[in-house]
Amino acid sequence: AKRIVIKVGTSTLNYDTGKLNISRIEHLVRELSDLANQGKEIILVSSGAVGAGLERMKKNTRPASIPEKQAMAAVGQGILMHIYEKLFAEYDQIVAQVLLTKENSRQYSQYINSRNALMALLSMGVIPIINENDAVAVDELKIGDNDTLSATVATLVDADALIILSDIDGLYTANPSKDKNAKLLHEVPHITPEIENMAGGAGTSMGTGGMSTKIKAAKIAINSGCTMVIASGSEHDVLRRLLKGEELGTIFP
Ligand code: ADP
Repeated sequence: AKRIVIKVGTSTLNYDTGKLNISRIEHLVRELSDLANQGKEIILVSSGAVGAGLERMKKNTRPASIPEKQAMAAVGQGILMHIYEKLFAEYDQIVAQVLLTKENSRQYSQYINSRNALMALLSMGVIPIINENDAVAVDELKIGDNDTLSATVATLVDADALIILSDIDGLYTANPSKDKNAKLLHEVPHITPEIENMAGGAGTSMGTGGMSTKIKAAKIAINSGCTMVIASGSEHDVLRRLLKGEELGTIFP
């Protein structure tokens, strides 16, 4: 895989309290910089803006309404980028903020514009850091849908692989927090209705998409010939090991 889209969810970037998990972000940045040094083209789709905003505003409770969430995301997005910018700079890696909505891929002129911008950044060796533009679209805030945004991005740039890092190491036969007998599926060759049922409803309190938006993402990725993997963001050296071919997480080949 040469061109890789990596999506990190709220549950990986934030503690349950909503505060940013800085050491997790540092580790991720180190891994991504390593991959970039090896000649991989990297695109990061990052959640975490709402958490960063809550922290900055010294709020201990999660925002109740969507406009409140939008406001927190707007405060937090700059802070999140500042952190990424600072950490990536330590490795001499340049990053760029790109805020998209799913509409950007539906309307042809916008599709071409977004694609051109991302391609230009990649050709310059810059890592685009993408998030949903929460001031104009609220899919992510409503249903944690950076999952399908990341798949849309993977399609947009003809990525070879999409890696979704979550708080869980892959797709299980049932929600493991409710069913102790749930087993990890290492490979999902076809997305059947049975697979979709396993994904069930939304996930944790911080992340909101759960597995169902990840399955939706897998459908989009597979359709455009992009391999998708779901793996745990807390697994040590997860990206390097995945790309070495280690059997981690769930692969949708
Ligand atoms: P993220 O912020 O990374 O998108 P989410 O919290 O939205 O993470 O989604 C991951 C969560 O989905 C898991 O922690 C788990 O609670 C839930 N989940 C529901 N069904 C399943 C399943 N079949 N296999 C694995 N996780 C599941």
